[in-house]
Amino acid sequence: MKAYAMIAPNKTGWIEKPKPICGPLDAICRPLALASCTSDVHTVWENALGNRTNLTLGHEGVGEIVEVGNLVKDFKKGDRVLVPAITPDWGSREAQGGYSVHSGGMLGGWKFSNIKDGMFAEFFHVNEADANLALVPEGMDLGVATMLSDMLPTGFHGAELANIGFGDTVCVIGIGPVGLMAVRGASLRGASKIYAVGSRQNCITVAKAYGATDIISYKNGKISEQILKATNGEGVDRVIIAGGTVDTFEEAVKMLKAGGYIGNVNYLGEGDYIKIPRVDWGVGMGHKHIVGGLMFGGRLRVEKLASLVTSGRVDPSLLITHRFKGMDKIEEMLFLMRDKPADLIKPVTIIEW
Ligand code: NDP
Ligand code: ZN
Repeated sequence: MKAYAMIAPNKTGWIEKPKPICGPLDAICRPLALASCTSDVHTVWENALGNRTNLTLGHEGVGEIVEVGNLVKDFKKGDRVLVPAITPDWGSREAQGGYSVHSGGMLGGWKFSNIKDGMFAEFFHVNEADANLALVPEGMDLGVATMLSDMLPTGFHGAELANIGFGDTVCVIGIGPVGLMAVRGASLRGASKIYAVGSRQNCITVAKAYGATDIISYKNGKISEQILKATNGEGVDRVIIAGGTVDTFEEAVKMLKAGGYIGNVNYLGEGDYIKIPRVDWGVGMGHKHIVGGLMFGGRLRVEKLASLVTSGRVDPSLLITHRFKGMDKIEEMLFLMRDKPADLIKPVTIIEW
């Protein structure tokens, strides 16, 4: 079969791969819709996973099942399925401990385009189909369904990690597709004020539609200083980090009230350490919590998130700025994510068979 792969660091292209083999609990799907991700860019061009060769890319998509293993109970050939980017091993000790996302070792639930071939191919493999897939809800647009693989779950996880409650003031740092979903998640969890940090006009418009009350540009000076000024020196109750660098933690700690939470979902690609400013961290006694996490996967999780879409509580279609058709557009879609033109939020490619 044809697969679009990271051939080597900084090099991608179409290659031939054997069709994946279906285990007794597994499913084989063909893609119906696919999206490229900032994480693909980190993988190929920023050495996030090291020296991978001939690794099929792609971890965001919707599939049609072409084969199921003989122990799969709830899915059959022809079903159209939501496929979370994270597909844990549900029998693992980590899953039993409540952290399925780290099954088999830290970040081990992230399999597609990491420890096995991803979805940018004629066929892809899903482990533990009953536990990791969900049916595409009736009538859901395939592009929107693709946002349920990673963007919505990751942004919403940022809001969970930041432990947002009714009336909290929140700063969301970064309003690419992940941060925009974090804005919506913060809004649904009852934030009173949401300061959204970004500079691209498209993203700002969508951030407002998702519930941002104030916009701050990191290009106009230190974010912490802008937030402190806007809050009469008080700072915010919660911070979600969905963009920036290792230095962004320093900003987040500075703008956070004592007892506050920082939820990070941003990938930290450079440097050996993150900096926590000692005095702003209450000289070690400020009860300022810092948590970082990979999104949760699994069927129940994606079904619940999908129900927020079908009930109209969140509309991920606002993220989709570019729509392509056909497998041969995968490369253009990936390069668009790498080059990030100002009008891009998220691209999808619909595949017609
Ligand atoms: P984008 O690149 O689309 O968005 C990044 C955002 O951060 C933009 O709003 C950008 O502003 C802003 N930004 C850039 N530099 C700074 C800075 N110095 N200070 C503050 N804000 C800044 O990324 P995505 O939304 O696609 O992804 C965000 C992150 O989430 C990535 O690191 C990605 O790898 C990670 N991720 C994590 C997952 C998880 O499970 N934890 C899953 C998927 C992705 P501007 O408007 O100027 O562009
Ligand atoms: Zn992704």
